[in-house]
Amino acid sequence: MDPLFTMRGNIELKRPLVKAPSRLPLPGTRCKRGPDQMEDALEPEKKRTRGLDTVTKLATSHPRAPALTARSQPQGQTTGGGKRCSSRCGGLKAAAPPMLGGKKPTKRPAWDLKGQLCDLNAELKCCRERTQTLNQENQQLQDQLKEAQQQARALGAECRTLEGELAKVQAQAEQGQQELGNLRARVLELEEQLGTQESLVQELQKEQLGLQEERRGLAARLEEQERSLQASETALSGSRAEVASLRQEATTQAALLAEQGERLHGLEMERRRLHNQLQELKGNIRVFCRVRPVLPGEPTPSPGFLLFPSGPGGPSDPPARLSISRSDERRGTLSGAPAPTTRHDFSFDRVFPPGSGQDKVFEEIAMLVQSALDGYPVCIFAYGQTGSGKTFTMEGGPGGDPQVEGLIPRALRHLFSVAQELGGQGWTYSFVASYVEIYNETVRDLLATGTRKGQGGECEIRRAGPGSEELTVTNARYVPVSCEKEVEALLHLARQNRAVARTSQNERSSRSHSVFQLQICGEHAGRGLQCGAPLSLVDLAGSERLDPGLALGPGERERLRETQAINSSLSTLGLVIMALSNKESHVPYRNSKLTYLLQNSLGGSAKMLMFVNISPLEENVSESLNSLRFASKVNQCVIGTAQANRK
Ligand code: ADP
Ligand code: MG
Repeated sequence: MDPLFTMRGNIELKRPLVKAPSRLPLPGTRCKRGPDQMEDALEPEKKRTRGLDTVTKLATSHPRAPALTARSQPQGQTTGGGKRCSSRCGGLKAAAPPMLGGKKPTKRPAWDLKGQLCDLNAELKCCRERTQTLNQENQQLQDQLKEAQQQARALGAECRTLEGELAKVQAQAEQGQQELGNLRARVLELEEQLGTQESLVQELQKEQLGLQEERRGLAARLEEQERSLQASETALSGSRAEVASLRQEATTQAALLAEQGERLHGLEMERRRLHNQLQELKGNIRVFCRVRPVLPGEPTPSPGFLLFPSGPGGPSDPPARLSISRSDERRGTLSGAPAPTTRHDFSFDRVFPPGSGQDKVFEEIAMLVQSALDGYPVCIFAYGQTGSGKTFTMEGGPGGDPQVEGLIPRALRHLFSVAQELGGQGWTYSFVASYVEIYNETVRDLLATGTRKGQGGECEIRRAGPGSEELTVTNARYVPVSCEKEVEALLHLARQNRAVARTSQNERSSRSHSVFQLQICGEHAGRGLQCGAPLSLVDLAGSERLDPGLALGPGERERLRETQAINSSLSTLGLVIMALSNKESHVPYRNSKLTYLLQNSLGGSAKMLMFVNISPLEENVSESLNSLRFASKVNQCVIGTAQANRK
């Protein structure tokens, strides 16, 4: 009974997995046991309990399938056999009449022992048959059980294999799930990346479109450039040919130019020689007389006081003569007749009447100034009494009006422009300016700045170096100049310095000599030529003498000393000029600071021009005559042939 239950349980468990046909007896077979057995199911409770006991016993003897026992067999079927047996036994105990041939057994009377025995034998026989049948059936079932067990084992093994496989498959499935999860995450990540890449791609596509557009534009431009390049190349090849021919021409021109340059240089040298010759013919010492106009507020001189007779060529000739009439009042008073007038005639290289402008005056000296560039020292003086127009002639009138600009700014402008022209012929020039004042035989720098301005330490005139001809003023500024503006600034500074000095010493400017000097250095590097000469422009101190009839107070005494110093230096100047003219062995340069400072600009190769400035006023006639006499003496001097300072 136990293996059967096990087998049934197994079959029920395995049925869905193994569809092997069951070899268990069909339910119909069991039902053949008869309707009596079915009826037995309705037996009293006691019998059912015995049957259950059997089941329990069976179940405990097979611990392998207790659960199956409980589930597998319906109650009625399991207990069927037991009930059947007990009903037979019960029948024996109760001496129930035997049931033969399906007939209802008839109850034998108690006394019918034989009949009862017979019944019992029949029943025993029946039981034995039944036992035999059951044994056979049992045997059959045992076989079936064995087979089923075998099958069950096979199925169990198969089941285990399958379980193993299932486990493997499950593990694989889990792994697959995990991988799937990973893959999903990866897919998400990739999708995200794809999104980014797609937007990037879109951007790039947009950019590509832009670039394509740009490329098209560039291609168009390139095409255009190529076209223009081609045109340029064509033009270039034309130009090259032109350049080649121009080069050839240039070579020819250069040769010609060199030849011309050579000729030009020769001509320039010739010009310098002729220029110098002309200046010499005009005289190395020239005297120009300039009469200033009558200023507003001044008395008009009587007609005929100053006359400018024309030269032998008539009025077209530039005036060179001056007549001044002086009435001799003493003689007139004595005789009672109107005072006779004495006419004094003077002749100079040139006379400038009152109306002559600064430009006209400069025209006459421009050529002389230019000689300084050619290497001849040039010295221009303004001589005359105070108020005669010396400063006006040298520096110019007040107010910075270009019309009244004096000789100094005009001369420098002229020099700068000629130097620039000569630059084209290979000459380079440099100019260094100095401006000093000599008062009472002391030298003072008019270009002093800062603390030295206005007073300045005393300056000394020294040789530039041992054995050097060149002179220099110690403590004085030597300022390189190259344009008009710089010269203007220097003249302005000199005026300021004089103005400061004027506050301490009255009218000092008219009592001192102002010496503007320009050192000119020219060089022709190509030919190794050098030339240099100083240009000196001197505004001399007033030449007037002290009235001998004046009482000598302390102020006058001082004035007398000044005047003596001035007279001394002016007469020394005259003496120097005379000595040079007479070719004397000793020239008294050292007798005054002025001549000592100007020694290189006087004599020898130097060219000198003296302006004698005259007042148009009758009251100044005496001083005018003195000036004119002094100038006439100078005018009579001839200084030897000038030699250019060339190295
Ligand atoms: P100096 O220097 O000889 O003492 P200035 O040059 O100071 O004399 O001249 C005296 C005055 O006469 C100044 O007011 C000046 O402007 C004026 N003056 C001199 N010469 C001329 C001239 N040629 N034309 C006009 N004004 C002149
Ligand atoms: Mg003056």
